[in-house]
Amino acid sequence: MNLLHKNILVTGGSGLVGKHLKDILPDAVYISSKDFDLTDLDQVDDMMGYYKPDMVIHLAARVGGILDNMNYPVDYLEENILMNTNVLKKCHEFDVEKVIAILSTCIYPDKVDNYPMLEQDLFNGPPTPSNFSYGFAKRCMAAHIDSYVKQYDKKWSYLIPCNLYGEYDKYEEHNSHFVSALIKKIHEADKEIELWGTGKPLRQFMYGGDLANIIKYMIDNSIVGNFNVAPKEVYSINEIAEIAKKACNKENLVVYYANDKPDGQFRKDVDSSKLLSLLDNFKFTHLGEGIKKVYDNFSKRYNR
Ligand code: NAP
Repeated sequence: MNLLHKNILVTGGSGLVGKHLKDILPDAVYISSKDFDLTDLDQVDDMMGYYKPDMVIHLAARVGGILDNMNYPVDYLEENILMNTNVLKKCHEFDVEKVIAILSTCIYPDKVDNYPMLEQDLFNGPPTPSNFSYGFAKRCMAAHIDSYVKQYDKKWSYLIPCNLYGEYDKYEEHNSHFVSALIKKIHEADKEIELWGTGKPLRQFMYGGDLANIIKYMIDNSIVGNFNVAPKEVYSINEIAEIAKKACNKENLVVYYANDKPDGQFRKDVDSSKLLSLLDNFKFTHLGEGIKKVYDNFSKRYNR
């Protein structure tokens, strides 16, 4: 066993990112909500007392799609604030040397003057209304980590990744992410699919395995700092649908847009050059290639 990886505890270990990380960092401890409910301070205390980690990768969050965020804003705010506060508080009490926590590009301001956004734009305006609560809860975690760094000189960091997709995503309607929902729709359709909104919003999408590789690289190379993480390419929803149709060999499907449904934030693309300058020639998985990989896996599991 690599000694560097001996005492790493990963929250959110049963989620999309957690499972990708486990594939390449199997000797860490992976925690799900079934093991410990992180909204409960006593359970977080038990978890830290039992594992006594040197490093915590904090992935756990209440994560969901636009509709779920709009229907349950209180739950998104409270659950995320509680989990993040409890985890960081106990990391401090148990002297955890390194923490890497995960924010999201969807917590950036709804609009800024210049795109792509840089890390210093994070607090330059309110988050988009459709995930206002999730956005503020995650921003509190950024402020919380920054405060620990200032007051206690901690080597704690956060990453701000763009939207993700991967083999381990969920496919239930209420909380699936865009690319997974798209893959499922394409798989099930014969002639047409319907997507929400206008198809015009711009997005960056990253394969979950790429984020896992970057987290592992930060661990292996003792990199500390706060970084955007996203491929450079920015596509419209319509372009993503076309890339996905091609990757799934269903180029003849017609895409209809339900204009009465919300688009969500128009754009939130970020610049990752601060992080990329520290990585050796890191190459993100191309969107079409990643979707093909996920689709092959999905169609094996859910073949009609
Ligand atoms: P996910 O697949 O939804 O997994 C969420 C994880 O959090 C699961 O392991 C879940 O455990 C755990 N969890 C939720 N509530 C918990 C609680 N009360 N106590 C303990 N554990 C709890 O999430 P993900 O997509 O891997 O996301 C990982 C991180 O990346 C999150 O912080 C998310 O905000 C961030 N992020 C995600 C995306 C994306 O597009 N997916 C984009 C940017 C940033 P159970 O399995 O037991 O429920």
